[in-house]
Amino acid sequence: MLSPITQNLDVLKKAQQLDSEIHRAHLLLEEIPSERAQLKSELELEKIRSNELEKSLKDIQLKLKEKELELAQKEIQIKKLDGQLSQIKTNKEYAALQQEIASLKADNSLLEEGIIHIFDEVDAAKEEARKEKEKFASITKSFQDRDNEMVGQEKSLQGRLADLKKQREESVAQLPPELGELYSRIALKKQGLALAVVSGEVCAACQMKLRPQLINEIRLGEQIIVCENCSRILYFEN
Ligand SMILES: [Zn+2]
Repeated sequence: MLSPITQNLDVLKKAQQLDSEIHRAHLLLEEIPSERAQLKSELELEKIRSNELEKSLKDIQLKLKEKELELAQKEIQIKKLDGQLSQIKTNKEYAALQQEIASLKADNSLLEEGIIHIFDEVDAAKEEARKEKEKFASITKSFQDRDNEMVGQEKSLQGRLADLKKQREESVAQLPPELGELYSRIALKKQGLALAVVSGEVCAACQMKLRPQLINEIRLGEQIIVCENCSRILYFEN
């Protein structure tokens, strides 16, 4: 009489190979959502950088407008004071008004210098914002490509997984029901590796030295023997 394990070893090994592949496919599938989330957060960071540069450009442009407005107001003031000069009666008042006009003109030449400086700042900020925009567009493109790739991988892995599970069910169905159930229970707990070959006197899966009596029982093959340490189904390679 063939022992249960010898009789079913080929089917068990086939099922184990499928379960290992199923386990690997699950691991790969589990990684995809977090990789996609990582990609998304990197892209969001880049978007924040890009927005910050746009904002700093706008701030400088606003500062420029304010200075230009201030300059224009002071020029109106100078014109108004210039007009008043002809109506002045005393030398003292005339000198005071001239003094005021000179002071406004001095302010304006400082303002003009400042404005020229801000023009340069605007140009530099525009250039920086333009470069960042280009960079952001190219990063967005490559991220989208990578994301699409991952979605494709996810789909093909799911297809592969469904196929493997079907094959696995077919294999396990060839085992005596009790053995099939035992095998499935262990495979589930042991990440698809329910079998352990006996190598020398140890379980090759967990390296535990096996008791001589246990080894005899495995050799006898009248019943399924599991490792007392890792609970895997033990067998001898013929
Ligand atoms: Zn073991």
